[in-house]
Amino acid sequence: MPDLHGKTALVTGAGRGIGAAIALDLARAGADVVINYSRSQAQAAEVQKAIQSLGQRAMTVQADVSQKTQIDRMFDQIEGAWGPVDILVNNAGIEFRKPVREITEELYDQVMDTNLKGAFFCAQRALEGMKQKGWGRVINISSVHEITPTGFCCVYSMSKGGMRLMMRELALEYSRFGITVNNVAPGAIRTDINREVLSDPAYEAKVISKIPAGFIGMPEDVSKMVVFLASDEARYITGAVILIDGGLGLR
Ligand code: NAD
Repeated sequence: MPDLHGKTALVTGAGRGIGAAIALDLARAGADVVINYSRSQAQAAEVQKAIQSLGQRAMTVQADVSQKTQIDRMFDQIEGAWGPVDILVNNAGIEFRKPVREITEELYDQVMDTNLKGAFFCAQRALEGMKQKGWGRVINISSVHEITPTGFCCVYSMSKGGMRLMMRELALEYSRFGITVNNVAPGAIRTDINREVLSDPAYEAKVISKIPAGFIGMPEDVSKMVVFLASDEARYITGAVILIDGGLGLR
């Protein structure tokens, strides 16, 4: 098991789903964890309680990552309390299933600002502290759709595709400072983001038929990889995309 004792991790959008699983597994490995949430304080508080019961420190911080001013306030709050962030997990994300003709400017901005702009400005803030320490990890939760299109979620794929080059640029600029920057790219994982569509058995069967492994993954399939990438054992992995998709991206 990787040892993350002494490290401070920030996971954005960590009140539920993949982010909550990541927050918990980072804590199991010994990290102190900041649980960012945008709206549901109650969910974030549940994750905080679960981490504290493991004997690790946990803090909840409200911030809408689509707003740079809120990102800055969040980092000021974290740094004031615990010092610089060692491990940043850019997990917060939204998805809208709409045909291209129905995408409004407002929807476009909402998706891009949350998924891409938010991840960039969180990384920008975290990287300077990491550089001073000579150690750091930036792990973006992108998607298999950073590589393959969806056919129903154009702006989402655009945002995740942008994350791919963002990650590669950051890795190129910062890897010399003991920092690694990587993307973890999930395929279909059972969470609230797809609960509604997967509740239709016919749609669920269609999704499963496209996955070579033959099943839909769970948040823990993603979180274990994030813990590994956050560890010293993964020091030589940077600029990489790790697909966690049961082979979905092979199609
Ligand atoms: P989810 O909807 O359960 O979690 C998303 C989290 O992000 C929520 O806690 C939400 O409150 C938070 N969030 C949304 N907008 C925010 C904002 N502006 N500021 C702060 N937090 C915000 O879904 P999930 O499946 O756990 O998604 C986590 C990440 O994994 C997302 O980036 C998503 O794109 C990615 N992903 C998920 C799947 C999947 O099949 N579930 C597949 C590929 C990628």
